[in-house]
Amino acid sequence: MNGLSQDLAPLVQRLRGRPRFLVFTGAGISTGSGIPDFRGPQGVWKKWTPVYYQEFLASHEARIRHWRYKLEGWEGFRDAMPNAAHRALARLDRQGRLDALVTQNIDGLHQLAGHPPGRVIELHGTNRMVECIGCGSRRDPDPVYSEFARTGDPPQCSCGGFLKPATVSFGQAMPGDKLEQAFEAAGGRSWSAPSDPHWRWNRRPRCLGRPSRGAPSTSSSIGVRRHTTPSPI
Ligand SMILES: [Zn+2]
Repeated sequence: MNGLSQDLAPLVQRLRGRPRFLVFTGAGISTGSGIPDFRGPQGVWKKWTPVYYQEFLASHEARIRHWRYKLEGWEGFRDAMPNAAHRALARLDRQGRLDALVTQNIDGLHQLAGHPPGRVIELHGTNRMVECIGCGSRRDPDPVYSEFARTGDPPQCSCGGFLKPATVSFGQAMPGDKLEQAFEAAGGRSWSAPSDPHWRWNRRPRCLGRPSRGAPSTSSSIGVRRHTTPSPI
């Protein structure tokens, strides 16, 4: 396998047998860039208790907690660079091998590695922008974090709306347009995102399993099912 780990051999063999495929990435691809995962031994949730979206909306104290948590990780996110895995996927995309790249990650590293932004479907939003919950306007996070670090007050937009990193929190609905794009890219039928925030993706990458009869050979299977624990950031 030319030095490749034998663990990777089955994956490489399957990818070679398919002209195109869909890639679904999660936190594991970015730990090599210094971004902690959420549930690993050094995971974010070992230290922080997630603030649910409803708490964020209802409580000044909860907004402070959310911004403290985000501030702690901000410089690490801002300065992180893509690693070999991100670059390899960007290369595969340039070669026309990817149907789509769907990610749960909020770090923007796929785009930094060279994926055109329109080719990355971010299901959980992005940490590289701050968004107003009221008017939807977006802005560069740096000045917002600096202001929060200085004052300790959760930032607000000039329209009076709460500012929040443009990521999907626990209890917050995932972006329906992104879900739809991902579902269609995976070869699924058209699907409307339910408003219930407790829906999340059930990921079963077909490239690691048997292709089902009648399904497009290039597709991965992405379905939805109901979880009792909503999706994090
Ligand atoms: Zn606003």
